[in-house]
This record gives sequence, structure tokens and C-alpha cells, in this order.
Amino acid sequence: MSQLELLYKGKAKSVYLSENPDELVVIFRDDITAFDGGKKDVLSGKGSYNAAVSSFFFSYLEKNGIKTHFIKMIDENIMLVRRLEMIPLEVIARNRAAGSIVKKFPFEEGQILDPPVIVTDYKDDEHHDPSLNDDIILALGLLTQEEITYVKETTLKINRLLYDYFDELGLVFVDFKIEFGRLGDEILLGDEISMDSMRLWDKETGESLDKDVYRFEKGDVMSAYARVVEKMMFKK
Ligand code: 5GP
Repeated sequence: MSQLELLYKGKAKSVYLSENPDELVVIFRDDITAFDGGKKDVLSGKGSYNAAVSSFFFSYLEKNGIKTHFIKMIDENIMLVRRLEMIPLEVIARNRAAGSIVKKFPFEEGQILDPPVIVTDYKDDEHHDPSLNDDIILALGLLTQEEITYVKETTLKINRLLYDYFDELGLVFVDFKIEFGRLGDEILLGDEISMDSMRLWDKETGESLDKDVYRFEKGDVMSAYARVVEKMMFKK
């Protein structure tokens, strides 16, 4: 990929221009970070796990009527995607209370949230991704009211599909973060869907099988990710 021009280097992915101006090449690196980059490591093979899980879910969502940026895999950690103009929002759906919502509000860890709670954070590490309400999203000119409704409804549909998928694997789909971008008049799902950006708990044992294993040193994060990938491969 050295001949391609680097467009953007994030904490775990690098995005390159491709020969086609409408497409980008995303490399899922082996870097893992937490706490706004305050904790970092390199774990061999982690990029490939996240790329495999992301590509599977993008295809799965497309089959279920959700438009995504995914085109195809080029290599085990390299994905070809449609070029979107990303919207700087982290859209989070929560089926159980965990993480920041438990710190900020009087929820009990693991409390069922039905209907699921959707939160939108502003993607801005410097300000620690502050939560936005609809009025701030409108005032910042990030989305129109109609688009806010579309993004929330699409997030709920994605949540339902993934919740049911993981439920069959014996996993609780606690919460997840997704990002959207514009392609002409349309809003598509971009970024990634992986264990880096979701919480998954083993239904029987309550064990975390996601980035919380790394964040809070709950064990070997690569073994946790491998368990999710193995369960998914077995199901396919
Ligand atoms: P929380 O708000 O509890 O920290 O995160 C809620 C969910 O969104 C978790 O599954 C978490 O992994 C994901 N999430 C929130 N912010 C980020 C982020 O900046 N990067 C990634 N990869 N995931 C995030």
C-alpha cells in the first residue's frame, strides 16, 4: 500500500486514497488504544480479526437492507470502501447499562434498557466526545431533523439485527458505536463494526468478550476476540 496516498490515520485504522476517486482503502492495523489514546498496545492479528468481523457485518446488514460503505476485502486486514464524507458523530445504542451511562446516571451495571437507548456523541477526542442532544446536532449543522430521525431509526434496525445474531451465539449485545457518512444525498453506514466498538458479554458467565478486556485488564483481549470470531465462524 506504500504507493497509495495516506488520507487519514486514526487510532486503529489508516485510510488511503485509491486509484478510483470514489473509493478508499482502509487498513485495519494491529494497534489497540483506550481512554482517548492514553493506553496503547500493538497486538499481532488484531487488525485482521476486526476487519473480518466488520466485513461480515457490513455484508450481513446490506443483505438486510442497510446501506453501508463496504465494497470488498482486498486482503485479510484491508477493505475497499465507498468514499463517504464522514459525519463527526458517534451513534451509540445500548441494550444494557454499562460503561459511561452507568458512571453518569443512576443505572445499575447490566440493567436492561428496553427500548434501547440511543446516545449521540460528538467525535472529538480533545473534548472527550461530549454527548449531544438533537438541538445541538441541528445547531452545529451536522444533520437535519429528518436525517436525525433516519440515523436513529437505522441504528435501531442495525441494533435489532446484531442483537438477534449475537443472541444465537450465546452472547449479550450490550452496546455498540457506529458512524455514518454522506454519499450524495444518501447517508450510509461507515467506519467499522467490531469488538473494538461494542460490548459483548457471555450469556452464561457474564464475561466480557470485547475491548473492555483490554481497557480494564480483565484477561487476554486477543483470546476474547478469537472466541467471538470462532463462534461466528461456527455459525456461518
Ligand atoms: P461508553 O459510552 O460506555 O464508553 O461506550 C459505549 C459503546 O460505544 C461501547 O461499546 C464502546 O466500545 C463504544 N465506543 C464509545 N466511544 C468509542 C470510541 O471513541 N471508539 C470506539 N471504538 N468505540 C467507542
